[in-house]
Amino acid sequence: MHQRQDFVRKTPSMNVPFLDLKANANSIKDEVMASWQEVLENTAYVLGPKVAAFEKAFAEAHDVKHCYGVSTGTDGNHLASLALNIGPGDELIVPANTFIATAWGATLVNATPVFVDCEPDSYNIDPAAIEAAITPRTKAIAVVHLYGQPADMDPILAICKKHGLGLIEDCAQSHLAEYKGKKVGGIGDIASFSFYPGKNLGAWGEGGAITTNNEDLGRFVDMFRNQGQEKKYYHKVYGHNYRLEGLMGAVLLIKMKYIAGWTEARRKVAAYYDAHLSGIAELTLPTPMPYAKHVYHLYVVQTPKRDAMSTYLTEHGVGNGLHYPIPNHLQECFAHLGYKKGQFPVSEQLGANCLSLPMFPEMTEAQMEHVVKTVRGHFGA
Ligand SMILES: *Cc1c(COP(=O)(O)O)cnc(C)c1O
Repeated sequence: MHQRQDFVRKTPSMNVPFLDLKANANSIKDEVMASWQEVLENTAYVLGPKVAAFEKAFAEAHDVKHCYGVSTGTDGNHLASLALNIGPGDELIVPANTFIATAWGATLVNATPVFVDCEPDSYNIDPAAIEAAITPRTKAIAVVHLYGQPADMDPILAICKKHGLGLIEDCAQSHLAEYKGKKVGGIGDIASFSFYPGKNLGAWGEGGAITTNNEDLGRFVDMFRNQGQEKKYYHKVYGHNYRLEGLMGAVLLIKMKYIAGWTEARRKVAAYYDAHLSGIAELTLPTPMPYAKHVYHLYVVQTPKRDAMSTYLTEHGVGNGLHYPIPNHLQECFAHLGYKKGQFPVSEQLGANCLSLPMFPEMTEAQMEHVVKTVRGHFGA
């Protein structure tokens, strides 16, 4: 095909989206449509056999005894706090650097989030800083396996044991991630997952799950998510409607066949970035910790002139994002808690310098090359 030279020159060489949900959906569309047809035929719109089959597969994949599909990851955080009996006057320790929904685990039960700084290498909650945040009101710790890398669980488990605290895992970004060879989701007392579309395991709508090895906590979650019912119209505990929908269960069940492969594909993208972006003075790459199998929900780099880099990438067709620009302790909604700027320097520096590069399992070699070429171009490297 003939093209004018000036037209060729002005056409962006390539556009790499930050995330390509359509490519992912297209790869399983026919299977999902056939499965949705079954849901329509048996009218199992809420919970039902697809959700039950998914819960079983998801629990097995995480080596955990119980899994309950719920409406969202945020509702899962609420449920986890309720299950651990966290309430008014109690404190829940939460990393300063995480998506805010981890902190809602405290506020939704009228407890207080107590923020702790993160480590400069793992970006996860700093176990060494947790003990200083413990007070007589501390009830539990909510760890987040942020960006897909598990937090350092052994020292945190030891702290929980020593002080008699509960341990919640926020696994919204860490499906199938491992700590010392053990899957997340069954390491603490109770864990919350999100299946928001952009997560490593995403529904075609909202979704979440609770996992636990504790039968009593599991039974509570099972009742609370479904109006507090032990069986129909027998309401043993207070409840809510936090049920997962049948159509979402069907998508998630199909995705369970592919999630391991998609996780490996994410890890390959990360390995490619690691190999081709190292050695740039003003660019800090993520640090894979020796105890962790990172599942790269996000590939977060740091650079001092972050906004300039973001603009350059956008102008050159490379999607990018900020995770997260304002740490929780500096959010307006928590102003009354009295945190000060400078209090959590690692989280604050990360907020100022972080930039997330395109990361999704369907990325092609050409897309990865374009990202690397553009980043190197920005640094003149
Ligand atoms: C996405 C996310 C949540 C909330 O999940 P939703 O399903 O969107 O409600 C909670 N915690 C973390 C760390 C998240 O990334």
